[in-house]
Amino acid sequence: MTEELPRGTARTIRTIQTMRTARIAHIGIAVRNLDEALSLYHDTLGLPLQGRETVESDRVTVAFLPVGDTQVELLEATDPESPVARFIEKRGEGVHHVAFQVDDVEEALRAFRERGFRLIDETPRTGAGGARVAFVHPRSTNGVLIELCEKAAESAAE
Ligand code: ZN
Repeated sequence: MTEELPRGTARTIRTIQTMRTARIAHIGIAVRNLDEALSLYHDTLGLPLQGRETVESDRVTVAFLPVGDTQVELLEATDPESPVARFIEKRGEGVHHVAFQVDDVEEALRAFRERGFRLIDETPRTGAGGARVAFVHPRSTNGVLIELCEKAAESAAE
């Protein structure tokens, strides 16, 4: 019966069946200097600093600052050749990616792949906080680098 529905409707139904997006997990912001950025996000906006972590695979140090149901993720490159460093070099500091929390990152990847989106990560990998993450290329997502983020089991009960 799906074929008889208008295209947009079928796509919507399919999306609901294949993945559930609970919320925006975090907004990633590329900064040149984490400590300096904290004077804005922590000292001035008053967001608590939840933690700081170096993710070796991404050559980046991140700081998480919860705000309501989501978080700000500040990203500082640890290597001038890393993706975040190249991003800043090309476009300056600013919003780098939006992370959507999904129940199952494998399923989410499949949904994106089936619809022809260009994936950066063909398979999930481990991101900050032990989350399973995968990125979708901004060239296929209206210019926004999208992170699909499945929370680590230990923090899923939060
Ligand atoms: Zn992120």
